[in-house]
Amino acid sequence: MYEIDVVVKPEFVKAYKEGYPLISKESIVSWEKVSDEGTVMNLFDDKKKFICKAYHGMQNKGYGWVLSSNKDENINVTYFSKKIKSALEYRADFFADESTTAFRVLNGEGDGLGGLTIDYFDGFYLLTWYSLGIYEFKSEILKALKVTTEYKGIYQKKRFDSKGKYLDDKDDFIMGEKAPAPLIVKESGENFAIYLDDGAMVGVFLDQRDVRRTIRDRYAKGKSVLNTFSYTGAFSVFAALGGASKTTSVDLAKRSLPKTTEQFEINKIDVSKQNIIVEDVFNYFKYAVKKNLLFDMVVLDPPSFARSKKRTFSASKDYVNLLKEAIQITKKGGVIVASTNSANFSMMTFSDFIAKAFKQLNVKYKVKERFSLPKDFRVLDEFKEGNYLKVVFIEKLK
Ligand code: SAH
Repeated sequence: MYEIDVVVKPEFVKAYKEGYPLISKESIVSWEKVSDEGTVMNLFDDKKKFICKAYHGMQNKGYGWVLSSNKDENINVTYFSKKIKSALEYRADFFADESTTAFRVLNGEGDGLGGLTIDYFDGFYLLTWYSLGIYEFKSEILKALKVTTEYKGIYQKKRFDSKGKYLDDKDDFIMGEKAPAPLIVKESGENFAIYLDDGAMVGVFLDQRDVRRTIRDRYAKGKSVLNTFSYTGAFSVFAALGGASKTTSVDLAKRSLPKTTEQFEINKIDVSKQNIIVEDVFNYFKYAVKKNLLFDMVVLDPPSFARSKKRTFSASKDYVNLLKEAIQITKKGGVIVASTNSANFSMMTFSDFIAKAFKQLNVKYKVKERFSLPKDFRVLDEFKEGNYLKVVFIEKLK
């Protein structure tokens, strides 16, 4: 691999010495020297002292990631094997647990390899490349995966552009056996239908596992549940399995109806007793208010940004209003599960959004519990921004 030496501006030296993993353009003296993505950079301070090794890859987050603090490290198959092996070891309890066969095995910078995630689906591995820079190491990383795992098959998603948008090259399948479509995996003992070769998303967001289990085990029994931005209905399925009296799933995407139906069916839930609605959530709120509908539980899990024909939704700008809509159709004593995967604001800011929404409606509330990323979505202490998930269970008080 092509390596170059670069000098870090004095005001950034301390951060990199202390393990900050993200490379910014501003931190490097004469960035022009670093042209190609995939270039390995040796970072030095202004006294020519080695700090760390990094690679250049363009993401919305930054310009690359630190790879190693060892100046003799070669970024080769051995290096990647080491990273993957320790990532696998960190998830030993997941591999041992037969009731959950889908989880993350390598979480980017949290496992020392920013720009790449690897998810495990019952013997199949899914690699997501977040930059062309990390993709330059594809052949080394695949070889490393070969020597460290016993895989049935390997798939990939390319999310190269600055917004992390999925690039459909029709080459998501890489090697090994092809997975059945759907591939049925287990989570907390329940089933999920996974499609590894059907566009950007595979059918479930693994980072909400603990939230789903909590809804099933401690909140759903006997409750009417509204699940907004429901996608394949994963929260509805867990609510129904936990004994919800009825679930209502609302999503704008037409595919959500067959996909949600399928998730119910493979868990032996009577779909005819559930409500699956293809509609804009904001229209549904208006309808619910008009019909005086009230729910025991409302789940809010919007995308951090979405543009539809009528409106754009941005979590950082519009979450307060979303909450206000939800509060109005939640029974007193009921629970709102407010979730966001927006990396643009912190748990503290999210708590402020919640406080503001309830205050504006003059309604009292109590925070019951909070969740952020689960164990398999490993986060570095030096890069807490990597913990993007924020979920708050809020009781609407009587
Ligand atoms: N809560 C889901 C994941 C949500 S992904 C889960 O746990 O699996 C975001 C979803 O929001 C997508 O399925 C998208 O179709 C939907 N969506 C985006 N804007 C919407 C809107 N205005 N109304 C309804 N659904 C919307």
